[in-house]
Amino acid sequence: MLAPPLQRLVTELAKLPGIGNRTAQRLAFHVLRTSDLDARALAQAIIDVKEKITFCEICFNLAEGPRCAICLDERRDRSVICVVEEPNDVIPVERTHEFRGRYHVLGGALSPIDGVDPEDLKLGELYARVAAGGVTEVVLATNPTTTGEATALHIATALRERAPGVTVTRLASGLPIGSDLEYADEVTLGRALSGRRAL
Ligand SMILES: [Zn+2]
Repeated sequence: MLAPPLQRLVTELAKLPGIGNRTAQRLAFHVLRTSDLDARALAQAIIDVKEKITFCEICFNLAEGPRCAICLDERRDRSVICVVEEPNDVIPVERTHEFRGRYHVLGGALSPIDGVDPEDLKLGELYARVAAGGVTEVVLATNPTTTGEATALHIATALRERAPGVTVTRLASGLPIGSDLEYADEVTLGRALSGRRAL
């Protein structure tokens, strides 16, 4: 029914999460009506995000260049590392304005059923950062899900062995159990951060 180029755009847009076929059609017609300049800016932004965004060599957060903005920020406290599962989990923690330390992004959570084992996550890199010295606290901010809790426990056990002098903390309860950090509102997450407890 649609002209093939328009249909192609609908097909591509419908692959995005939360975008059904009807929404994809609406967006495709919007792109068709929009100015050449805006359409090109959208296409270029998609290309740029794939070409220019890399992972920070220290914390594995998203970066434009070898290091992310947080690792480059000298005002951020090096002695506290907040461990999260994915780069998008950094955003809700930052939004709380409760955390002035640095991050470590694991790249997922332990899940033997899905074939995610310790060596698939950036765990060795985390232990190396802690072993390098200067770290006094590691905040485990993995999601309050089964896999997130298992990951926190795994890291806590490993750090107790490798770095007994480092305090390992977990976000306080109060976060909706079974959901992801990114869906927590900043007040709840801020409270969970400031009320974190030693593991
Ligand atoms: Zn970084």
